[in-house]
Amino acid sequence: METGKEMNYSAGSFQPIIEKCDGCERVVSEEGSTYCKTYTNPAAKWRLGICNFATHAKPEINVVKVRINPLKAAKRASSSRRG
Ligand code: SF4
Repeated sequence: METGKEMNYSAGSFQPIIEKCDGCERVVSEEGSTYCKTYTNPAAKWRLGICNFATHAKPEINVVKVRINPLKAAKRASSSRRG
């Protein structure tokens, strides 16, 4: 069985990386082009948001924390019930 380290990216179905992949450790260069050694189609990987294999960018969890003051919420709930 072959365990060849050398991948022939340019001959395979690997698509060149996109701008956003710049700086990622998974980028490999071959014959003047750059490929991702994890993903054959980096553009598709980024289409839905951040690439989850990116080593240079971490997905920020942009959960907007809506802080509800529990006391106020309780008051509001009880006062609306009164009417
Ligand atoms: S792992 Fe993701 S960010 Fe890194 S080169 Fe591949 S597609 Fe681009």
